[in-house]
Formats: sequence, structure tokens, C-alpha cells
Amino acid sequence: MTDQPHNIVIVGGGAGGLGLATKLGKKLGKKKKAHITLVDAQKTHFWKPLLHEVAAGSLNAFEDELSYLAQAKWNHFQFLPGRMSGLNRDNKTITLAPIYDETGEEVVPERNLEYDDLVICVGSTANDFNTPGAVDHCLFLDNREEAERVHTTLLNHYLYAQASREASPELNIAIIGAGATGVELAAELHHAAIELARYGLDAIKPNKVKITIIEGSDRILPALPIRISSSVHKQLQKMGILIQTNQLVSEITNTGLKTKSGDIIASDLSIWAAGIKAPAFLKDIAGLETNRINQLLVKPTLQSTLDDHIYALGDCASCTLKDSNDEPITIPPRAQAAHQQAELLAKSLIGNVLEGQAPLTFTYKDYGSLISLSRFSAVGNLMGAITGGDMMVEGMMAKMFYISLYRMHQVALFGRFRTGSLILKDFIGKTTRPHLKLH
Ligand SMILES: Cc1cc2nc3c(=O)[nH]c(=O)nc-3n(C[C@H](O)[C@H](O)[C@H](O)COP(=O)(O)OP(=O)(O)OC[C@H]3O[C@@H](n4cnc5c(N)ncnc54)[C@H](O)[C@@H]3O)c2cc1C
Repeated sequence: MTDQPHNIVIVGGGAGGLGLATKLGKKLGKKKKAHITLVDAQKTHFWKPLLHEVAAGSLNAFEDELSYLAQAKWNHFQFLPGRMSGLNRDNKTITLAPIYDETGEEVVPERNLEYDDLVICVGSTANDFNTPGAVDHCLFLDNREEAERVHTTLLNHYLYAQASREASPELNIAIIGAGATGVELAAELHHAAIELARYGLDAIKPNKVKITIIEGSDRILPALPIRISSSVHKQLQKMGILIQTNQLVSEITNTGLKTKSGDIIASDLSIWAAGIKAPAFLKDIAGLETNRINQLLVKPTLQSTLDDHIYALGDCASCTLKDSNDEPITIPPRAQAAHQQAELLAKSLIGNVLEGQAPLTFTYKDYGSLISLSRFSAVGNLMGAITGGDMMVEGMMAKMFYISLYRMHQVALFGRFRTGSLILKDFIGKTTRPHLKLH
């Protein structure tokens, strides 16, 4: 009998999964202690918290993407492109859907992939709560392609206005959801309106771009402390962004939104940024426990509740812990949570493969939240070791901490030296590039 190395399959190379694959590759794959495979539906990794910048054109996704194949080669794991579509717990295999080319021709047939341990970290998509018209008339920000579609649609409105003889054309943009994504997107689009006019697409004057955020709760950023929400609210108002709270969207049409209270909000470009749900294929997959938004239920060890060899982390996992008062806390769907879970799971799996150790238990440290308001400002709170408590930060300091979140992700993927080189490259690039992607 051949002594096969332990086979760990990670599905989803996002904020959590790619760092995990990189760490396991370096610690286990390199010494042939385990075979590490990363599967992702895309060929390149792009850090999701930057998608609103891609949508507005502040960031060119092609300059910040990372090839999975290259990262795998550098860090001793294998990358397989493919979309997970099924799971067989008896055979310990996952199914990858066929891959088609752009003409619909099959490139790779359906395949099965064996695992000893499986880690599912396939993230989430926006939750449109089956609102009539949302799929047909809204754009979303779930991945790079969708963010680029928002950008292209925005540019097309400008190109049309530039070519038409309409006097003083307007552009109405509606953003559904005033969580971090909706709020940050609104500020980026406001910045884009100013920059586009500066670069000559000036038929639509910045003050004719009407951005409205529609939110069901009684305040924006309902998941964050009130003082952050109030400060951001004031700053958005200063930019001229309209905020409608206590408004539930009941229907989207090609000319705007209808709300439950009967209001009609005109919109030429509607973007859905409210709520999340895990991918539909996870719902009750292979008899595992999932919740109403398709997240896999996991124990504090990140093992699924019914199968110790299947782990889940990040947005697609529902992990409930107890705080110091024995009150339940549910881990929020955020990059910092996915990152912390990936770090813990890397330690667990390394300990398990090398020493036969039992899985470790996850504890979540909330380091605070930061909201970027494009080039204008940032607002947030920092918690824990850095500040010794809960401290509100604004302006340049908040912006610095916000940027450092992405840099920390890069350190996890590339190490400190290469991240330093990337910072330098980005700095130099700023002097030779326009402030906005104009194509
Ligand atoms: C615009 C925006 C701004 C945000 N800003 C912040 C922020 O400032 N701070 C913060 O903490 N969080 C932020 N978030 C949330 C954060 O992006 C997510 O919480 C985080 O990315 C979740 O990490 P993950 O690893 O679970 O999933 P993801 O990072 O979403 O990665 C999932 C991966 O799985 C792959 N995948 C999906 N389905 C399949 C399949 N069936 N088979 C194979 N592969 C699959 C995808 O291609 C992707 O690579 C933001 C989100 C958005 C959309």
C-alpha cells in the first residue's frame, strides 16, 4: 500500500482561502507532509473589499489581480480552476462543474476531486430578497466582472450624454443598502463624477449626478456604532448624497425603484448592495446543516456540525461563539473575520497533520471597523491592542488604517518584502496614471 500524503482541498481562494492555501503550502506542501489543492471558479484573485473602487473606476482591477497559478507555484500548493457544484461525503469527493468557453463550447468536463480534509470558503453574494425586478434592473458588486460592469455602465451614460445635444443632462444613481459597501460606493461614485468632468467628460456636471442611498433601517451603517453612522451621514450629506432611511424597496424597474411606502425614486443606474447570502449550491449540501441564507453551520473549531472532515470559514460559514458573559456572538461576514479564521485553521491543520493534534477553537477579535469615503476621508473605530480600548478615528489617520487592511492581506500572501515593493510600485504608478480608470 502506498503512503499517500494527507490530501487537503480548499474551495474558494478569497480573503480567507488564499491566505490559508499559502500558509499550508509553505508549511506542509513544501515538505511533502500534505498535498494542498486550491479550487476557485476564477483564474485570478482580487480582494473583494476593493470592488466598490473598481466599480467607480478609482482602481484598475487588472493592476491588482493575482494569478492563482503563480501564487500556487511560489507557495507549494496546486491550483485547479473550477466551480464546486456538489459533495459526496461517503466517497469524500467534491464535484466541479464543467468549464465552458465564451461560445458555450465545453473546455473541461465535470470532474470529481478527492479529499481527506475539505475547507469550504466560497464567500457570499448580495441578497436581493427576491425583490421583483432586482435581477433584471440592478447591477451587483459580487465579483470583479460585476464591478467592472458597473464601471462600464457608468461610463456609457457619460459617453451618451457627451454625444447627445441634451441641455444639462442628469444622472440618477440609486444604491440599495447603506451598509459599508453601499456607503463606500456612494462616496467613490461622487468622486468619480468630479474626476470624469475634470478629464473632459463634462456634459454631466458633477452637481447633476444625483446619488441616493436607500436603507431599510432607521440609520445608515446599522451594524456599526451610532457615532460612526452619524459622522458618516454628515459627511455624505456634505457631498450632496441623498439618504433615505426606513425605506424598503419593493420593486425595481428600468426607470427606478418603488418603495413599500409608495415612493418612486428615479434611477438610471441601480446598484444592489444590501444583505448577503452564501451560494445556493451550499443549501443542505450532502445533508450538512445550513441556515436560511445557505451558510454552513460550523462548530467553534470551524468543523461543520455534522462532519469533522469538512470545515467552513468566512462569509459562507455561520459560526456562533460565546462572549465572556456567555452571550452568543455570531461572527460577522467581514474580511477580518475570514482572515482570522484562516489563520486559526492553518494552525489547526498543521498541528493535526504533523502532530495528530485535535483542532483548535476559534476566538474572534474585533479590531474595529473602518469606512472609506473615497479620497475625501475615512471614519471608524479601532479596538483592542493598538488603542487599549474603543477609539473613534477620522480623516487621514482612519484612511491610513483603512489602507493598512489591504496591505496586511498582501503581507499574508507575499510576505513583508514583496509587499514593500508593491507599495513602492503603487506609489510610482500614481504619478503616471490618471486618477480614474477612463475606459
Ligand atoms: C464592496 C465590498 C466592500 C467590502 N469592504 C469590507 C471592508 O472594508 N472590511 C471588511 O472586513 N470586509 C469588507 N467586505 C466584506 C469582505 O469582502 C468579505 O467578508 C470577505 O471577502 C469574505 O471572505 P471569504 O474568503 O469568505 O470570501 P471571498 O473573499 O468572497 O472569496 C470567495 C472565493 O470563492 C470563490 N468561489 C465562489 N463560489 C465558488 C465555487 N462554487 N467554487 C469555487 N470557487 C468559488 C470566489 O471566486 C472567491 O474567490 C466588503 C465586501 C464588498 C462586496
